[in-house]
Amino acid sequence: MHDHRRLGRELGLFDTDPLIGAGLPYWLPDGAAVRHALEEYIRAAERKAGYRHVYSPVLGKRELYEISGHWSHYSDDMFPPMDLGGEQVVLRPSLCPHHALIYRSRSRSYRELPLRIAELGGMYRSELSGVLGGLTRVRAIQLNDAHIFCTLEQVAEEAAGALEMIRRAYEALGIVPARYRLSLPGPGGKYVAAPELWERSTALLTDVLDRSGLPYEAAEGEAAFYGPKIDVQVADGAGRESTLSTVQVDFHQPERFDLRYVGADGAKHRPVMVHRSVIGSVERAVAHLVEQHGGAFPAWLAPTQLAVLPVSEAQVPEAEAVVRRCVELGLRAEVAGPEHGGLGARVRRARLVPYQAVIGAKEAAEGLLAVRLRDGRRLAPRPAEEFLAAVGALVGAHSTALWDGDDRS
Ligand SMILES: [Zn+2]
Repeated sequence: MHDHRRLGRELGLFDTDPLIGAGLPYWLPDGAAVRHALEEYIRAAERKAGYRHVYSPVLGKRELYEISGHWSHYSDDMFPPMDLGGEQVVLRPSLCPHHALIYRSRSRSYRELPLRIAELGGMYRSELSGVLGGLTRVRAIQLNDAHIFCTLEQVAEEAAGALEMIRRAYEALGIVPARYRLSLPGPGGKYVAAPELWERSTALLTDVLDRSGLPYEAAEGEAAFYGPKIDVQVADGAGRESTLSTVQVDFHQPERFDLRYVGADGAKHRPVMVHRSVIGSVERAVAHLVEQHGGAFPAWLAPTQLAVLPVSEAQVPEAEAVVRRCVELGLRAEVAGPEHGGLGARVRRARLVPYQAVIGAKEAAEGLLAVRLRDGRRLAPRPAEEFLAAVGALVGAHSTALWDGDDRS
């Protein structure tokens, strides 16, 4: 595995500036392209799974976090409040309270449940500057978050559905989980004291894990302050684990925010909140992808999907036409022309690009591309349109395969 900080700089994905501050990386165009592809994948997967997307502000009044319990259980990780005309507002440490208020914004019927609210939203953590680095420890976080408000009977199915979304995303991203963890509370006062609620939610998550057939380990002291969770752990090159994805069952926040729905019996009932994140924070997910793939991303994520290499100056117009066609088709391509050196040097420079299309005099005359895949395979020259359609299909399917068609080489 590679160090994502070094590779991120080499590949021009992200960087930092002391004037912006530690733990506040910015994304360069190639990094932003990877991030867009990832965010679009997640939003599409969520829409298909019945989630509705919302936007909510990154600030909230201090009182909001007093109600949610963050103020008493999580304030060490929060930025100090800002005084605004006698009111204190806080950079949010999580999206849950805002989503609880969106749920509460009007009366809810049992017919609306499960109500799945999703947001790729900003949140903040006041990490100490000594531990900050790259994309894994940052102070500004973009979280792939969602909250499912549902009845007690619906919890198991919703949690299992979230685990299935995680499994599919990992397949598309080429991520192999290090392990699944059932994260339970430990000793100490950082957890909400409500033993019967902890027992109920732990029993529910245990059941979901048992039925999934996935191997898992229980770990004490790793729960959220308001409830236990299923964590999907990934490992870096040094074997250090971090949590990428989570599924949590929460009885606490619905109580704190007095959430209700009107049941079939006409009476008011308390919903359960399932918190889930498929890829966790975008920063950590991209850091892990960079390390896992060494910069050789699956084609659908690659910042440049196709490098077009004209053999000589004479084929530059044809190369530029191929790139324009790629842009029309929604593919990311660039010309690596003779001004960047000999063909061999240009092929080496584009070694992380999934597809390298060479255009010599013969290909230019016949409208063909001679394609070399990143893994070294060569495809026999074929019409540009045919090749781009095949790449478009692989990218659209979020495949990790570079090629599944006829090689004809
Ligand atoms: Zn949440």
